[in-house]
Amino acid sequence: MTAQSAAVSASAATALRLNDAGLFRTMGYINGQWASAKSGETVDVINPATGEVLAQAPHMGAADTQSAIDAARDALPSWRAMLAEDRGRLLRKWAELQAQHIDDLCRILTAEQGKSLAQAKGEILSGIGHVEWMAEEGRRVYGDVIPTHNNSHRLITLKQPVGVCAMVTPWNFPSSMITRKCAPALAAGCTVVIKPSELTPLSAFALAELAERAGIPKGVINIVTGDAKAIGTAMMQSDVVRKLSFTGSTAVGKLLMKQAADTVKKVSLELGGNAPFIVFDDADIDKAVEAALLSKFRNAGQTCICANRIFVQDSVYDTFADKFTAAVKKMTVGNGLEGNPDIGPVIDMKGLQKVEAHVKDAQDKGGVITTGGQRHALGQTFFEPTVVKNATREMQCFREETFGPVAPLFRFKDEAEVIALANDTEYGLAAYFYARDMGRVWRVAEALEYGMVGVNSASIVAAQAPFGGWKQSGMGREGSKYGISDYLEVKLLAIGGL
Ligand code: ADP
Repeated sequence: MTAQSAAVSASAATALRLNDAGLFRTMGYINGQWASAKSGETVDVINPATGEVLAQAPHMGAADTQSAIDAARDALPSWRAMLAEDRGRLLRKWAELQAQHIDDLCRILTAEQGKSLAQAKGEILSGIGHVEWMAEEGRRVYGDVIPTHNNSHRLITLKQPVGVCAMVTPWNFPSSMITRKCAPALAAGCTVVIKPSELTPLSAFALAELAERAGIPKGVINIVTGDAKAIGTAMMQSDVVRKLSFTGSTAVGKLLMKQAADTVKKVSLELGGNAPFIVFDDADIDKAVEAALLSKFRNAGQTCICANRIFVQDSVYDTFADKFTAAVKKMTVGNGLEGNPDIGPVIDMKGLQKVEAHVKDAQDKGGVITTGGQRHALGQTFFEPTVVKNATREMQCFREETFGPVAPLFRFKDEAEVIALANDTEYGLAAYFYARDMGRVWRVAEALEYGMVGVNSASIVAAQAPFGGWKQSGMGREGSKYGISDYLEVKLLAIGGL
């Protein structure tokens, strides 16, 4: 670390009022050592609410990634040989330390990402839940004894860790995307090389610091950050890396999947979404408004399961629009570190410009803004929470994730029409609907082509529930009894000559 970057970090740690300044790490983590980029290059980490430089993180590349892969390879034999309950004990210790230091972890997360401290806490608690769940699930990795095909034989399956895993994670959940992937991998006996988003590496470094304090051996968790393309290519070209777990955009996911083909790696992908949120005429409208608000505006609209298209049935459209607009008008916007605002800034200028483009496109095509519609007076990358009435399928917001605080309201006539509209997308991550008729509830739940469907609920994430998408939203599942199997290989033992 240069003297200048050390000074930036020390002052940022002080400004963040951390109880434990040791959590404010600004270097990569390879083989149990804090590491600069071999090139010496760094990249600024910016607080999106203020534009301030929080730290300079290493801008690593292929050579650094290779060192991390070597460390993960060397750590693998003893980690996978450990009893599942012993790995579980270390994971639980890691979870306990996260809980103990949650206030500091929240401040670091909010500073680099922008969501409120309360939402940061929700994210970190969710990650802790996954670590706790998988710490136990590792002890339930059962094989089978299969009825034999030959009396002199016995057929048995073993499940064994896939080996070294590469993980590439996004900026919208800088902490839980890492814990959610690491927990099943480590519980299964895999070792990992993680590339967090270059926009939000500080939460990842803090998690590595706590993993070290928990006693997770060197080389089991490695973190490299910097040149995404160089790191990703080094990961995908490696014969040692047996699996990729990626969360991020569909474009990058497809690229990594293609790169993974050369060495036939296992691949788990959690890509974009374009979630429909459907309100039928028999719905409890007030509850639907409340849930749509939560689902649309959490993390300033920057989650892959955010309601992107809100469909409301004809006869309740105006009532819903009025109530929803009134609720959105009450939402507060601000710096997540101050006073628990509902909405923080959008992550960066690119994100803000996309939000603006979607609003303009909607207006050009007949959309009516009932509240918001422009950059917020706070400046930076803040955008007003926005509602667009009279949205249509010709608008960009029908096809693409807005990834910002904009709620388009589409009108529909009947069940068949809205199911066709909801499924008219290449994505299939999350969908939500509000209805009370039991027949309708079953019909619609079964017809939606999505990996997760919230029925009269926007709360679909839990450690024990499988998270993942259909179609171009990805493959594989995180969390639940299904999540650990993504990190396990099945081996048949056919034992003959009995
Ligand atoms: P978003 O548009 O939401 O930022 P990205 O897919 O660009 O989503 O980013 C998700 C993660 O993918 C980040 O860690 C980012 O650095 C990484 N990433 C971006 N481009 C590449 C690439 N060419 N190879 C590997 N990782 C990449």
